[in-house]
Amino acid sequence: MTDIKAHTRDELLARFQTWEQPTYRVAQLLQWLYTRRVTSWDAMSNLPQALRESLAKEFTLGTLALVRQQGTPDTTRKFLWHLSDGALIESVLIPANPALYGEASDRHTLCVSTQVGCAYGCKFCASGLDGWKRHLTPDEIVEQVLAVERWHGEAESEKRKAESGKPAASPSAPSFPGDTRLVNNLVLMGMGEPLANYDPVLKALRILNAPWGGGIGARKITLSTSGLAPQIRRLAEEPEQFRLAVSLHGATDAIRDQFMPVNRKHPLRELTAACEHYLQRKGRMITLEYILIADLNDGLDQIGPLSQLALRLHAKVNLIPYNTVAGLPWQRPTEEAQERFLAALEKMKVTATLRREKGGDIAAACGQLRLKTERELAGDK
Ligand code: SAH
Ligand code: SF4
Repeated sequence: MTDIKAHTRDELLARFQTWEQPTYRVAQLLQWLYTRRVTSWDAMSNLPQALRESLAKEFTLGTLALVRQQGTPDTTRKFLWHLSDGALIESVLIPANPALYGEASDRHTLCVSTQVGCAYGCKFCASGLDGWKRHLTPDEIVEQVLAVERWHGEAESEKRKAESGKPAASPSAPSFPGDTRLVNNLVLMGMGEPLANYDPVLKALRILNAPWGGGIGARKITLSTSGLAPQIRRLAEEPEQFRLAVSLHGATDAIRDQFMPVNRKHPLRELTAACEHYLQRKGRMITLEYILIADLNDGLDQIGPLSQLALRLHAKVNLIPYNTVAGLPWQRPTEEAQERFLAALEKMKVTATLRREKGGDIAAACGQLRLKTERELAGDK
């Protein structure tokens, strides 16, 4: 059985037609799923019992179980979820930060995972440490957004309850109006390589983008890739205007080869050509992500090739100080070294930003909470 949230409106319309159900029933179902975000068929009170039974026979209605949550109000919050087969994935909720991934966001950015583990094995990354386990299904990607919004609704209702000293009117009622969406920016920068799970990821994005679904504008959705050149070309042919971020982290093959095995398969020449193609087809600015890792890629020798590449691609460069990962030797450069790198890029007329955050912030490094939890569960603290 597949999950109901892996299906588009058109697919559901076709199914409802075979059941001789009127079209408006699909609209009702979609409202329950994406506006009220209910977690059981029984909650869909305006659907006839017989229809609910047919749905339950044909589809699952899965939710993500929260295992752990880190963070404090108004800062980054990290969620660790259990999938139905016991696998663990992460999502990270980040309060609005207009400078980071394109257009201004007045609410929140959610960073979602697209795979369990990652096969690409970049040497600095926690997600790739234990290899790749499986792809996420479209509904598992969609549900990360819904589960966070559900969690937020519950937290808000608890807060109101505490403030007024009265219990909420009905515990099963959605605790905030459905048109108040929490997540209005989505980045595929959690665990996994989104373009290696192409079709399910695209389907999830279409559901999250649709007005009947997640309602997140395509321009507010950013796919991040470590450099899968053929899939970048494929993405260029899709009708949606999704944003693209390329995890560059090094501007020469000599550097990238050292810690990004994907570069051996798709070296910079091929990657750059694919990005140029994307730019031509889409007319959209690409973002180049560049993690700064001390003594690995923070040398000023990278400035020449990096600025050449950025200027050629009309790309913006996001500099991200490395978050240390337990068990890996890499360190973030000193603040002076970070600023020096930024200033050198700016001198070359490159548009660049440096993420300035305090201490070992939890924002950037997805995969770490899962790794920590799995190690603790295995008794290896
Ligand atoms: N696989 C895709 C998307 C997931 S990784 C990709 O590589 O782009 C999302 C981003 O987080 C990438 O830019 C990745 O390089 C970065 N990242 C991974 N580990 C990190 C760490 N420890 N500190 C800072 N950024 C990290
Ligand atoms: Fe995979 Fe991205 Fe991590 Fe590389 S940086 S191992 S591609 S998740």
